[in-house]
Amino acid sequence: MKLTDILDEARLAASGLVDFASGIAKPNVRLGITGLSRAGKTVFITALVNNILNNASLALFEAQARGRIKRAYLEPQPDDHLPRFSYEQHLASLTGTKRSWPESTRRISQLRLTIEYEPVGLIARNTHGGRLHIDIVDYPGEWLLDLPLMGMTYQQWSDATVGSSHLEPRKSVASEWHAELKSLSHQDTASEAEATRLAAAFTEYLSKCRSDNLYMSALPPGRFLMPGDLEGSPLLTFSPLELPAHCELVPGSIGAMMARRFDAYVSKVVKPFFFSHFARIDRQVVLVDVLSALNAGASSVIDLKSALTDILSCFRQGPNTIFSELFGRKIDKLVFVATKADLLHHSSHNRLDAILTALVAEAEERANAIGAHHHSVAIAAIRATREATVRVDGEDLPVIVGIPNSGETINGKSFDGEVEAAVYPGELPEDATQALTGELAGKLKFVKFRPPTVEGHTFPNIRLDRVVEFILGDKFE
Ligand code: GDP
Repeated sequence: MKLTDILDEARLAASGLVDFASGIAKPNVRLGITGLSRAGKTVFITALVNNILNNASLALFEAQARGRIKRAYLEPQPDDHLPRFSYEQHLASLTGTKRSWPESTRRISQLRLTIEYEPVGLIARNTHGGRLHIDIVDYPGEWLLDLPLMGMTYQQWSDATVGSSHLEPRKSVASEWHAELKSLSHQDTASEAEATRLAAAFTEYLSKCRSDNLYMSALPPGRFLMPGDLEGSPLLTFSPLELPAHCELVPGSIGAMMARRFDAYVSKVVKPFFFSHFARIDRQVVLVDVLSALNAGASSVIDLKSALTDILSCFRQGPNTIFSELFGRKIDKLVFVATKADLLHHSSHNRLDAILTALVAEAEERANAIGAHHHSVAIAAIRATREATVRVDGEDLPVIVGIPNSGETINGKSFDGEVEAAVYPGELPEDATQALTGELAGKLKFVKFRPPTVEGHTFPNIRLDRVVEFILGDKFE
């Protein structure tokens, strides 16, 4: 499909958008939070909201640091058709006697946070009275990575997906799906049983690609791994096929059936998400589990770069792009965040910043993106560790200390969720580009620590203030 076709549809869809339930003020900013599964979205939003509601000290968030935040509170759910982000439930998990991490994002949800503040200038005081409504929209990054499918045919998508599955490391987990593909021809008569079997094998392949040792990022269609409310839906019963170049799919064949279902997925799943949610976002936080990708090795880093390229393309601006034409609006700020920095000693935090910046810069070059104003930062939304030094063979080793989750094993010792452990997590190289070559594969030691106890009313964090200031700071002027 051409961009112009998408834009025509967009205008139609835009004219039909019901923006808000009556009687509820429009948001001043719709803040998207995304990232692939387990990147840290739920923890990030819970910590962000918790810090703001409690007016916690966030040194680099200038409005807060200067004492201009007067009050913050959650308001009723503004959009009737979206589930509410379960802030209270997530907070209860983190702070309950068991102190466990909350349930991760599985679908889109939203939370309305209102902040009253002392505006800087007279004009601001008179125009919006120092009240900022922020609609935080949490959605799986897998869905964002589906947007490029809007411009692809079934043949193009099949060729790309089957092609990449024949390259290592994906090939090593593709044998069962490949066997299913070999067992049929695209011209065979369409059969529901065949389609179901193929889709199951394809989904299993995608899920193995996402496992910790491979840790691939670019795995569309996103709903196969993160179905949301489409769990078990016939819309997800398709798979790429091995197709000859420029092949004509005969009506009634399995190939034609798969192509029809791919088109239905794009029109009934991808486009509605784009028009109803993504296209309405003003600012975006993209969370990235950079450490897991570095630990999985070069292929995982390359794949992450490719996913970041696709993400940046979604935010591309300038003439002839979706955003410039659509509703006359655009995402004006975008922040990439490397999460879980507390799993490293602070001597590596700036290095993690630099690695993410290098990854985004390379992705940006490939995306040819004249993107929104963007920034990269490494943080821990909730810091589960503290730091210490241990002396080993006469050398000081920088370690992190925390309580490993019950069942975690370190050097053969099993933990019960009550006892602290000191871990040497490894170090990141000084030269960021060196980290991108895959040289850290298997060298970082990650432990799942229990969440920390709350200090005062909020959780300890690393650099959360930088994200808040970058993404929202100017809204308090
Ligand atoms: P989501 O799938 O993006 O919603 O990911 P979550 O927010 O549920 O995070 C997935 C897991 O990552 C959590 O269960 C935690 O184990 C871990 N995690 C997330 N954020 C942090 C953090 O700031 N520090 C630490 N130590 N672990 C984190």
